Amino acid sequence: MTDQNDILLGDHMQAWSMTVDRFITHAARWSGQHELVSREADGSIVRSTWATSATRARQLSAVLAAAGIRPGERIATMAMNSARHVEAWYGIMGYGAVCHTLNPRLFEDQLVFIINHASDRWLLADPQFAPLIEKLRPRCPTLERIIYLCGPDQLPAGAGVADYESLIDGRPTDVPWGTVDEHAPAALCYTSGTTGNPKGVLYSHRSQVLHAMICAQRDTMGMSVQDSVLAVVPMFHANAWALPFTAAATGAKLVLPGAKLDGASLYELLETEAVTLSAAVPTVWQALLDFLTTNRLPLSTLRRVIIGGSAVTEALIRGFRDGYGVEVLHAWGMTEMSPIGTISGAPPPAVAALGADARVAFNLKQGRAPFGIDMKITDDDEVRLPQDGVAQGHVRVQGPAIIARYFREPGEVLDAEGYFDTGDIATIDPHGYMQITDRAKDVIKSGGEWISSVEIENIAASHPKALMAAVIGVPDPRWRERPLLIVRLRPGQEATAAEFLAWLDGKIAKWWMPDSVLFVDEMPLGATGKLDKKVLRARYAQAATPSE
Ligand code: ADP
Repeated sequence: MTDQNDILLGDHMQAWSMTVDRFITHAARWSGQHELVSREADGSIVRSTWATSATRARQLSAVLAAAGIRPGERIATMAMNSARHVEAWYGIMGYGAVCHTLNPRLFEDQLVFIINHASDRWLLADPQFAPLIEKLRPRCPTLERIIYLCGPDQLPAGAGVADYESLIDGRPTDVPWGTVDEHAPAALCYTSGTTGNPKGVLYSHRSQVLHAMICAQRDTMGMSVQDSVLAVVPMFHANAWALPFTAAATGAKLVLPGAKLDGASLYELLETEAVTLSAAVPTVWQALLDFLTTNRLPLSTLRRVIIGGSAVTEALIRGFRDGYGVEVLHAWGMTEMSPIGTISGAPPPAVAALGADARVAFNLKQGRAPFGIDMKITDDDEVRLPQDGVAQGHVRVQGPAIIARYFREPGEVLDAEGYFDTGDIATIDPHGYMQITDRAKDVIKSGGEWISSVEIENIAASHPKALMAAVIGVPDPRWRERPLLIVRLRPGQEATAAEFLAWLDGKIAKWWMPDSVLFVDEMPLGATGKLDKKVLRARYAQAATPSE
């Protein structure tokens, strides 16, 4: 009787293991002729297809196998977005090794720390990073070999270096893929470490497959075989928001811009490659919009842009929507979430019914959780707060592509209910929209209440003379902290503090009003292009502190 029940209750469906190589194998078989278009360092365009790149990725796996690399070992990449970089991902992960994407914009000491912490054995890199790599090598003893993602003609000098094209040439294409367990690690990405040392997030094959399927959903990125996708967000920045996986899963065309991310270069690709969907951080899109406005250019094929990494401004949403009919998908997430957490795109019917202006207001929020992500906000004692759009709390998340523990760190990083604390502070409204009001470490606590630095920043940055705005807490003897507004003006502009305070007046609560405004020529940015408030606090907080 028991045996009979066991047979009936056992899994009757196929054990189809979720390994990431399946993405490109699927693309090669069913959308094999769809293109991967790359811009090389010299500006020229190189064309591949999913079928060709899948074959070349398999040849790279053969190189790894012949060299005795074992599954689970770390192979690093330091490269801008290109078809070769995509092939490197699949060649490394398909074989069962772990692809560790390095951010070349990190400080040298951080890169050394990360490479040693991960015990990277090989590094596949763009030739442009050769000077940096030669400086790192003496301090990275585990690094045995550097392979430059180029042909023999572009190979930089150096001991033990090889070029990718010569290395894969003529290699077999039958090295087995997907032989590791779906729970085995596939990729490694370090957080930029704005506090303390960078921490490694080790993605499994399963987490990445599920994450890409979460991203592909209609209400998330809604990618389709009809799309031509320009992946501006770098592959070393939280896996380019999974675009190399989702594009392969759907069979979309993938356009990879290399190192040229200025308005003119991106515009050229958007038009010549008939791009319909693209993803980048707000600063990149602002530069593109400025370029379009200055040169009075149209956008003929672009339909949707995914914007995330930091908050999207109203100017950006209206600029794309009203000027070009392009829909903004406002995304929030982080390295620890693979990275997509929420997205604000097509609204649910109740929000759509509120009209065009309300849609913009909801688009400014970071969005709703797709299937595969659960979310709650809590107070400092981990007690859940109401989802009324008013209560601000710590955002905690749960899902199959969300971190449980950091690489080579003891213990899980989850609360009693199994949720990960994102370090962000937000509200969640009755429609399910989450809105970030701050990062926990940047929050300004004045008279026992939280002031949202992000909200003041967004309003200040929408002043026509402002290029960027930042708000930090300044120690205050009476209130503990008070907000200081720091503004970088657009080139050629002049403004007074009174002008900015008048702009904020009536748009924020009186007690949120910054005590002073500081104008600066430069804003410090971190390695992922975000405002570095730690530097701002170190530079300006003490100086602006009123004396008792
Ligand atoms: P790091 O934490 O090192 O900056 P990430 O790229 O993982 O690296 O950044 C994640 C953080 O970026 C989030 O915790 C959040 O504070 C911020 N962020 C990401 N997307 C948005 C967004 N759409 N709006 C506001 N903040 C965002």
